[in-house]
Amino acid sequence: MSFQVFGIPVSRGVAIGRAVLVASSRVDVAHYFIAEAQIESEIQRALRARDVVAAELEALKQDLPGDAPHELAALLDVHLMLLHDDALTGATKQWIIERHYNAEWALSAQLEVLARQFDEMEDDYLRERKADLEQVVERVLSALAREQGHAPVDAASVVQRDFAGEDPLLLVAADIAPADMMQFKRSVFHGFITDIGGKTSHTAIVARSMDIPAVVGTREASRLIRHDDWVIIDGDAGAVIVNPSPIMLEEYRFRQRQSELERARLTRLRHTPAVTLDGERVELHANIELPADAAGAIESGATGVGLFRSEFLFMNRGGELPSEEEQFIAYKAAVEAMRGMPVTIRTVDVGADKPLDRMSASELRHEHVLNPAMGLRAIRWSLAEPSMFRQQLRAIYRASAFGKVRLLIPMVAHLGEVRQILESVKKVQQQLTDAGQAFTKVDLGVMVEIPAAAVMLPLILRHVDFVSVGTNDLIQYTLAIDRADEAVAHLYDPWHPAVLQLLSRSIAESVAAGKSVSVCGEMAGDPVFTDLLLAMGLRSFSMHPSQIPSVKQRILRADAARLARVLPQVLASEDPQREAQAVFASHKVTHSLQ
Ligand code: PEP
Ligand code: MG
Repeated sequence: MSFQVFGIPVSRGVAIGRAVLVASSRVDVAHYFIAEAQIESEIQRALRARDVVAAELEALKQDLPGDAPHELAALLDVHLMLLHDDALTGATKQWIIERHYNAEWALSAQLEVLARQFDEMEDDYLRERKADLEQVVERVLSALAREQGHAPVDAASVVQRDFAGEDPLLLVAADIAPADMMQFKRSVFHGFITDIGGKTSHTAIVARSMDIPAVVGTREASRLIRHDDWVIIDGDAGAVIVNPSPIMLEEYRFRQRQSELERARLTRLRHTPAVTLDGERVELHANIELPADAAGAIESGATGVGLFRSEFLFMNRGGELPSEEEQFIAYKAAVEAMRGMPVTIRTVDVGADKPLDRMSASELRHEHVLNPAMGLRAIRWSLAEPSMFRQQLRAIYRASAFGKVRLLIPMVAHLGEVRQILESVKKVQQQLTDAGQAFTKVDLGVMVEIPAAAVMLPLILRHVDFVSVGTNDLIQYTLAIDRADEAVAHLYDPWHPAVLQLLSRSIAESVAAGKSVSVCGEMAGDPVFTDLLLAMGLRSFSMHPSQIPSVKQRILRADAARLARVLPQVLASEDPQREAQAVFASHKVTHSLQ
């Protein structure tokens, strides 16, 4: 039966393929693809874990005291029976063989399938056995996690399966932690659908950086969609069509071809400098998450990296932090790949919806930290761990010997923080000099993401070389809207007059102070806001590489002086979005953060 689910469109385009469900388990489950040669050993891992659990259950049964209620022994028998049932073991094996899933993923995928069968059972007693099945699977997952010598993979080691000739796969999940997204980054998925999340949640940002269609905040897609269902993701409308009719399928295939043609047309702008009609030159930089993304930045025609989100180097490491050497190698790789163009490395920004490991935003919110977005995040965490902070600074400074490096600090709100940062920088420079390590001048910048920083920017500007406005967080903190919470996604409004005031003041004050200013939040990559940002005097944008061509096209058609003249009308309006549409460019752009 065909049906539709609606959510928030976060990454545009159309994807058509088969659904792959990623189960949300209480146990931390790694999802990655294994190589052909690993299939047998992965099956053996799964079987070993099953045997360990079987032995545990047998031992529990033996140890039951004589007066234990007999239901307890019967329950253990049920668990043992479920454990050995071919519907669990045999099918798990099939997921490993056919899809190359790792054992944990295969097991949780099969749990998902069986859980639905239990849900559909008429008999109350049988239906309730679902909870037993979940317990059994969680025991096996724990046994897998305990297994000695099996390190969870990091993003770099995820096996890229060759799916040529097979149906495209679309990922469906209740929630995907940014750490997990990184693992999928270079894998096979052609689209993402999640139950929770907002337009600028980090999961959405990573999906956009992969340039594949995604819809988040669907609330129940992962409950309604089944493994292997045919699914269309309409990343422009935020719609998910499950088991589409042949006519619908044909219509979307046509749209898919059209957008591919449009992309191909835009890539021809790659080597065209971004200059407005009245001759204003604009820098279009790239946002990257891993050094390997620099290749995409070059390919898209970026003139530098405006935001290297270094925290992704810190994820999926089982709590261990990357060493100075490891970080240095990663930063150097990005710097060298950019061939002399500037690389802005942001110090680690973990916390809020970006925990170090694969805990999801909702888990973090509900179980661990009272209010993570307002907690020990970004520079607050770095300053609370001074040796970790200096280690990262040393790695960044050392990379400066290989190209143009800029240092960017996230979430600054206090002048005291700026002073502490400057002290750390000084100390690190001394340490490197003492150790005979080479480095060159590194410009220091801070992100304007907290309204306090925007309001007191002239004071901050005295101490730094540049600023970068992080509109994702600036909007979140100005409007008190959790950017990852779909329940308030309709209130996340980049056009809110308060946001526009803070943004335009930040740009104007930086320009007046003679300091360079950039915007690296999602607004910068959305062509709907290009005229507005140009009107505010912005001449440096940083965005996902895939967004550069359409923003550049917008810049090439803009008259910056004319836009600046009508800006006061937009800022004074009670409905800035409508006013902007009326007074800015005459042609229409369809994609918006709105
Ligand atoms: C922002 O807040 O706009 C930003 C670019 O940083 P992040 O999205 O990583 O929080
Ligand atoms: Mg931010």
